[in-house]
Amino acid sequence: MKALRLHGAGDLRLHDEPIPTPKDGEGLLKVTAVGVCGSDLHWFSEGNIGADSLKQPLVLGHEFAGVTSDGQRVAVDPSLTCGQCEFCLEGNPNFCTELLFAGHSITDGALREWMTWRPAFFHPLPEALSDADGAMLEPLGVAIHAVNLAHLKPGMSAAVLGCGPIGLLTLQVARLSGATRILATDLLAHRLDAAQDMGATQTFLADGHSENETLKAATRGRGVDVVFEAAGTAESVESAIGIAKPGGVVVLAGIPTQDETRFTASIARRKGLTIKIVRRMKNTYPTAIHLVERGLVDVRSLATHHFPLERAVEAFAMAQRREGLKIVIEL
Ligand SMILES: [Zn+2]
Ligand SMILES: [Zn+2]
Repeated sequence: MKALRLHGAGDLRLHDEPIPTPKDGEGLLKVTAVGVCGSDLHWFSEGNIGADSLKQPLVLGHEFAGVTSDGQRVAVDPSLTCGQCEFCLEGNPNFCTELLFAGHSITDGALREWMTWRPAFFHPLPEALSDADGAMLEPLGVAIHAVNLAHLKPGMSAAVLGCGPIGLLTLQVARLSGATRILATDLLAHRLDAAQDMGATQTFLADGHSENETLKAATRGRGVDVVFEAAGTAESVESAIGIAKPGGVVVLAGIPTQDETRFTASIARRKGLTIKIVRRMKNTYPTAIHLVERGLVDVRSLATHHFPLERAVEAFAMAQRREGLKIVIEL
């Protein structure tokens, strides 16, 4: 089979490898669609993510769908959690101490024709969802978790800073949860167009430093109830702190390139902000499937570009240039 491995920063190679054999408790999966994620781009550009660096040639890909050995189309949860540790038992599998994650560390991900995975983490796809839709359920799950953390209530105002796929999905889930006013920012105009289509009430082209004042002015100085930071830049975190209302909630979903998050303490302190950090998601697949099946969240128009595995290097380069929205590799 064909498998794409990352050997170092910028060094992706397509290999011929034997089809893996399932071990105890595993099933064989024929991979059909894999989304290229911002975190894959961290691996690709820098050869690491946060404090984790490449340990061996790694197959990336954690947003994926496939077909099981008995012909069932499924979306796959890339987090293998143990279900038995203290954190799994208290209902926080996202903090599992035994966590294995597809396309991370020594656990190969989905950018290959076949893989093995535990069937308990397969989620059957309804007819209405395509394979690429199935791959989008993972980032949608992160967005659902981010909105859950915010305790957003009907009638609240929100801001989404950074309108990549996570930001655009968060925006849609925030709107569904009752946010009546949603400000959205990004450095790229085509992403703001998408934000407008997906329910943003006002969009702002960011320039990396002056948007803070513009955003505050748009709320007549009050600020918004909830801010979702999904860009991962220092400027965006500072804006998030700046535009939250006194007593507001800031949810940090972006992954910073430098492994550090900083903001002006006095602003956050005087407003008594609640700052929450998104760590993946918690059992969000059933909700995500339901929302897409019912047409309440549009994942399909986010998947703007589709590439075959043979052209994955091109796909990564394109994602790195921030063209399109989500790039999906279809096998
Ligand atoms: Zn991802
Ligand atoms: Zn666990």
